[in-house]
Amino acid sequence: MTATRAVYLDHSATTPLDPEVLEAMLPWLREHFGNASSLHAWGRRARVAVEEAREEIAALIGAHPSELVFTSGGTEANNAILKSCCVESRLTDTVVYSAVEHHAVIHPAEALAQQGFRTAVLSVDSGGRVHPEEVAQLNHPRTLISVMHANNETGVIEPLEEVRAAAPDALLHTDAVQSFGKIPFNVRQLGVDFATLSAHKIHGPKGIGAMYIRRGIDFKAHQHGGSQERNRRAGTEPVALIVGFQVAARKAIRELQQRVQRMRHLSHLLRRLLCERIPGVLFNTPEEGALPNIVNITFSDAHRLDGDALILGMDLYGVAVSNGSACTAGSMQPSHVLLAMERSPAQARAAIRFSLSHENTEEDILYAVEALERVLAPMRD
Ligand code: PLP
Repeated sequence: MTATRAVYLDHSATTPLDPEVLEAMLPWLREHFGNASSLHAWGRRARVAVEEAREEIAALIGAHPSELVFTSGGTEANNAILKSCCVESRLTDTVVYSAVEHHAVIHPAEALAQQGFRTAVLSVDSGGRVHPEEVAQLNHPRTLISVMHANNETGVIEPLEEVRAAAPDALLHTDAVQSFGKIPFNVRQLGVDFATLSAHKIHGPKGIGAMYIRRGIDFKAHQHGGSQERNRRAGTEPVALIVGFQVAARKAIRELQQRVQRMRHLSHLLRRLLCERIPGVLFNTPEEGALPNIVNITFSDAHRLDGDALILGMDLYGVAVSNGSACTAGSMQPSHVLLAMERSPAQARAAIRFSLSHENTEEDILYAVEALERVLAPMRD
């Protein structure tokens, strides 16, 4: 078998831009280049586009437009929320976060700890879910709790409504970068005070995201400068990116059911083929209670396997998969998410994350499993 196909199964790292999204963006890069803060016609046109996008995206998550602030992506939104709550807004002096958060939550929390703020880490069970009883012990009005909606490595969905019920007095943030557009996401239903979104995981452009800040919260900007975004995030609004985010979000939600059905079908096929053809495969992603597009596996003989070699071997066959969060790839650290789920360091190191999209085909899945069989064979000899 030589590399006869190019099969992209790394959609949790990023997705290709939807051509319709690109088309919608182009006029805002070419003729409509105005600054949304300018008073003249060029500026006013840009302002209308930004506010229409804000209105539509806010409605898609059950928020009011004034509760949505555009950022450069998920990393900035997480940083701004955690740091502003402690420093600029002085709302909290403790940050509690789950052991399986993305580094875009863990690292700002650790930076706050170095500045003297209290932090606590919520453990997870072997399925990757936080324990609401543990959350209940940390319920306090001057505490910010950050628990992601769904995990980027395993796809596991966190029991956010139970977390909210267990900590009614705390401020609650959720990183919904991976879940928005894959499962229903509604800020009011979940009862969160803050949320993080990013466009490039849903076939939108890179470099744009948003933070939801519940109305009534006196949020002070973490990034200072102009008075954009009602003084909550300084910087000239990237109109084309915002319009791209709007169209990508609209399509993701409008087509949610069909996309989910398609991704579930492909994930089931992948799981079945892995069970049939790959001896010793272990699933880190449960069949229920996970995103429809992620299948994370490891192996019973993980100590004999090298995770990076597996990924590079798959790449030689033209298959893109990942061994955890793309941001940590190359650092050779076993995944903190899988370690928190009590996998051994060897099992965490040998893990492979397949993340699909509705655009993948059954042939892609068959080809990927065949490639894995061939990559594993010499390693197991
Ligand atoms: N949070 C989660 C759960 C993610 O998966 C990612 C990206 O991988 C981020 C945050 C960072 O988002 P962005 O790439 O938009 O900065």
